[in-house]
Amino acid sequence: MKVIVVGSSHGGYEAVREILADQPETEIQWYEKGDFLSFLSCGMQLYLEGVVKNVNDVSYATPEDMRAQGVAVFTETEITAVDAANHSVQVVDHAHHTQRTESYDKLILSPGAIPATLPVPGNDLANVYQMRGRDWAIKLKAKTVDPDVQNVVVIGAGYIGIEAAEVFAKAGKHVTIVDMLPRLLAKYLDEELTTIVTAEMEQHDIKAAPGQAIKRFDGQDGHVTEVVTDQATYPADLVIVATGIKANTQWLAETLDLDDHGMIVVDDHQQTSAADVYAVGDATLVRFAPTDGTKTPIALATNARRQGRIAGKNACGIPATTPLVSGSSALPVFDYKFASTGIKEGTAGQFGIETKSTLVTDTFRPAFVPAANGNAKVWFKLTYDPQTTRILGAQVLSTADMTQNINTISLAIQAKLTLADLAYADFFFQPGLDRPWNIINLAAQKALRQLDKA
Ligand SMILES: Cc1cc2nc3c(=O)[nH]c(=O)nc-3n(C[C@H](O)[C@H](O)[C@H](O)COP(=O)(O)OP(=O)(O)OC[C@H]3O[C@@H](n4cnc5c(N)ncnc54)[C@H](O)[C@@H]3O)c2cc1C
Repeated sequence: MKVIVVGSSHGGYEAVREILADQPETEIQWYEKGDFLSFLSCGMQLYLEGVVKNVNDVSYATPEDMRAQGVAVFTETEITAVDAANHSVQVVDHAHHTQRTESYDKLILSPGAIPATLPVPGNDLANVYQMRGRDWAIKLKAKTVDPDVQNVVVIGAGYIGIEAAEVFAKAGKHVTIVDMLPRLLAKYLDEELTTIVTAEMEQHDIKAAPGQAIKRFDGQDGHVTEVVTDQATYPADLVIVATGIKANTQWLAETLDLDDHGMIVVDDHQQTSAADVYAVGDATLVRFAPTDGTKTPIALATNARRQGRIAGKNACGIPATTPLVSGSSALPVFDYKFASTGIKEGTAGQFGIETKSTLVTDTFRPAFVPAANGNAKVWFKLTYDPQTTRILGAQVLSTADMTQNINTISLAIQAKLTLADLAYADFFFQPGLDRPWNIINLAAQKALRQLDKA
């Protein structure tokens, strides 16, 4: 069997790994249009902050390693068209300026996404940057040490924008972060928690400018100098646009069913509308667990990797179904660490369901353990269906690393657990690590009391 895998980031990498594990005798051709195999944008902040020194280390695979495992690796080589009826793809080798047709038995597409651009005057000025992929990583790194860059404006306060803001604040720049939504991280955390994160960022010379729409970028000699919103003007030697992504699928529009936003339509086995063609990653939708499978865009490496494995298995003839997911994510922001999963107040509206939430604020170890010994304050917010008490989501924030609690809630959502299941769930106690009632127990118990169901 011959399998062609397109795209070498999370989804493509995982598909290749799965096929190698399931059917090592398969002929695998792996195509990447960029000049580098398997760059992982998730590691970009670590590189920009100097934790990882070499940009090429932000990767899971090298062409040499993969070739040693029998995979035919092609970089700087783009798949420009799919002829599904004839089971073939059009291959353009940018390095050698050649073209050819390749046949496949199975095709796995992980073309991912590209950053969205802002359709405002001045968006083509020099020093208007984005933050995705190795090329932007290298360009951004240069700006962290550029003395001509003093004022940085980040547009978009999702987790990528927050990472960008932190990188440049740590590099000693004056950073402003602008978002249309009324709060930073509005899709990840509710107001009680974003207030704390925003104060933490402001302490590190990051000015938060939420609730503002970008009108234009002004410039001089072709370089950006100012960002103009509907409420203010901010000086800018560098602008980083992190306002979302667009599926990289235009080239597939004639071949595969795409939705109105260009996302590739797939079934529960990652199968597209064409026989023997699978698609995974940011160019596809996932099924959202809190609402029993609503198709929704959640651009996370975790989803791409899970889907890559499922596609690899199905391509090998091993039936596999992609599970529903809750969209769990986490981020350190200076001294704080937060994580969230499922539905929050900021996203409840889009699913049209009734939710109720309970916030618990406490220390994560017993009160007798001094703060000086690391007994940090923790904010934990649990969201549930007030009628059935089914768990729908949660958020956690602390200077201690409490993020793994969110993985527990993700599993609770997937297993359709209720408040009663969590209220007395068996979680460990050790005063150096936790309290007799874990924060999840406490939140579920408090919620039951609030609902008069204790
Ligand atoms: C700054 C940043 C930080 C992030 N941090 C996290 C994190 O901490 N945790 C998390 O879960 N997720 C994180 N993500 C999201 C994660 O990176 C994406 O969800 C993931 O990369 C999606 O993988 P993918 O395989 O779908 O596509 P992509 O990563 O978009 O990769 C697609 C690849 O396919 C190649 N390609 C596209 N079309 C073709 C073609 N026609 N022919 C050949 N090659 C092609 C592209 O060049 C690219 O290399 C982060 C993203 C960014 C930008």
